[in-house]
Amino acid sequence: MVDEGMPLPPINPEALYRHLRHLTETIGVRLAGLPGEAAAADYVAREFEQAGATVTQETFPVQARDVSEQQLQVFFDGAWHDAGCSLFANTPGTKGAWIEAPLVFFEGPTGYQQPDLGPLLGGKVVLHLGCHIESRENYRRLIAAQPAGLLMVDLRYPGAVALADAIFPVYAASCGAVPSLNVAFLEAWKWRERGATRARFRVVGGPRPAESANVIADLPGSDPAAGVIYLGGHHDTQADSVGADDNGSATAGLIELARVLATQPRRRTIRLISFGAEEQLSVGSSAYVRRHRAELAREGRCMFNLDSIGSWLGWNVLSGSAPRELDALLPAYFARHGQPYRRELGVLPYADHFPFVAAGVPGLTLMRPNCAGGRFFHHRPDDDLTRVDVKLMAASLNAVAEFAADMATVPTLPFAAAIPDAEHAAVAQCWEDLFGGW
Ligand SMILES: [Zn+2]
Repeated sequence: MVDEGMPLPPINPEALYRHLRHLTETIGVRLAGLPGEAAAADYVAREFEQAGATVTQETFPVQARDVSEQQLQVFFDGAWHDAGCSLFANTPGTKGAWIEAPLVFFEGPTGYQQPDLGPLLGGKVVLHLGCHIESRENYRRLIAAQPAGLLMVDLRYPGAVALADAIFPVYAASCGAVPSLNVAFLEAWKWRERGATRARFRVVGGPRPAESANVIADLPGSDPAAGVIYLGGHHDTQADSVGADDNGSATAGLIELARVLATQPRRRTIRLISFGAEEQLSVGSSAYVRRHRAELAREGRCMFNLDSIGSWLGWNVLSGSAPRELDALLPAYFARHGQPYRRELGVLPYADHFPFVAAGVPGLTLMRPNCAGGRFFHHRPDDDLTRVDVKLMAASLNAVAEFAADMATVPTLPFAAAIPDAEHAAVAQCWEDLFGGW
């Protein structure tokens, strides 16, 4: 346990609120590769420095989604109707020109069973039910069918507004892309019910090469051979979302964790990393592990990542790959602060702990869903300051702080720095398919 002479200071909910307010209201949208994200990285770096950490920023290339206009119209009941839409990151715009084609409905969860997609989808605007394509092979077949465009419907929560999202960078780079627009579930429902026959869209802007950054804060330990405990979160957001919960909650949390942990004696180094470009699929954390692979193998002991932890109503979930002994240790820390979590086992490749797992380091992500589909304001403009409870966040973060402080001081870690044998194959498969491997 932590040395009783130096009690761990508590996380301050008012400081969390102040950081969240700066991130969501002073800065606002923090899209990868654009000025809002860079402003967030600079803010986090300054705050880490004030906490007493040694701070570096590591840049990496990213395709910024730089869109100034987007319009969609759908034909039903004898007329064209305007609809909300949001261009997926990593998919092209139309240089402002209208693209019009017949509309077809494609049920993503079962549609790929059809042997030949070309005759059905070629030249059409495809309403794609489901906005995450399950495998690169399915995405390759979809693009090879040469649709005129995709209207992607998120199935996780049947909302009335278009969400923002991305085609995974590795998918777009290896298979190509067509203009892909997220549309609201309830609008798609209406088009199907009314028998919509055509759609047309135009987009000014699209992807362009840019730079993002990871912000790394070191709280050095006294024994360089004792290894490194990583804490992570991401400071970028989706388009048109100020991302208070996703992931201002963890960004503010990392700043407070740095402040309270800096006061503690440490044998092991604690390294807090605020990642850029998570929302396109962990571009920042995968860049980090590629750059530091040898060091992670030598020094990495575990990564505890935080992503969207502040929902007023909801429940805590811990996902990721860790040895049994680490899983046995964690519940007591959270129970002590009235924040029990549900552990969901199995490989989860969709958060920033995963690249660490691919590098062989135990990696976990704490999240807080509020409905069976995830979070009802996920990737939407209304993920604002009103959505998060800073006292609840402080309680969870106190648990993380105590865990990290203890793991940084114990003479011998009570778990091995290895992922379960049973998960190796699935981890390697996800790393290859979704991230393009090493
Ligand atoms: Zn997130």
